Amino acid sequence: MINLILFGPPGSGKGTQAAKLLKKYKLVHISTGDLFRFNLKNNTPLGLEAKKYIDKGDLVPDSVTINMLTAKVNENPNANGFIFDGFPRNVHQSEALDALLTSKGSAVSALIALDVDDEELTNRLLARGKTSGRKDDSDESIIRNRLSVYHKETSPVYDYYDKAGKSVKVNGVGTLLAVFRRLCKLMNKY
Ligand code: AMP
Repeated sequence: MINLILFGPPGSGKGTQAAKLLKKYKLVHISTGDLFRFNLKNNTPLGLEAKKYIDKGDLVPDSVTINMLTAKVNENPNANGFIFDGFPRNVHQSEALDALLTSKGSAVSALIALDVDDEELTNRLLARGKTSGRKDDSDESIIRNRLSVYHKETSPVYDYYDKAGKSVKVNGVGTLLAVFRRLCKLMNKY
């Protein structure tokens, strides 16, 4: 089983690259952001709860997020492996993911971090906001908060897996295909 954490700040290209990787490697893609947006669109209680945080660019509470992620993993008992996109977003979520995978006799194979600087990220997110209809992509102060949450709460996840020798950085700037090739080169090792 390959369990890959596709890591990086908002706008670093995780979703785009995950879509290409899952086709090539036949993995199940779990994006917690997409799951929240699906719930939001369908006005579920989970979506309404998550909206309070998403609209500000804050993290949705761990209890809600971890339960949702666990349910999605459990829905796919025959998966070859998973690409986790947007999860884990803090060390507590990392510990929960490790415990979940351990309970299935598995583990995180690697964390691949897409490296993109904040100025480029802000430009990308504002450009995406023009077409995505996402409120959290359209407002510069929300974008700034998302980046600050990433630096404070999420970036320690890189160090957490680095201690286990599992973290690796990839240059996330370049064409979609150039970045994809860099990722595939790494994937061949797992
Ligand atoms: P994303 O599409 O990954 O940028 O996520 C959009 C928003 O969903 C984030 O700004 C958070 O409010 C929420 N979110 C997504 N994943 C998580 C997570 N793992 N933990 C907490 N909140 C999350």
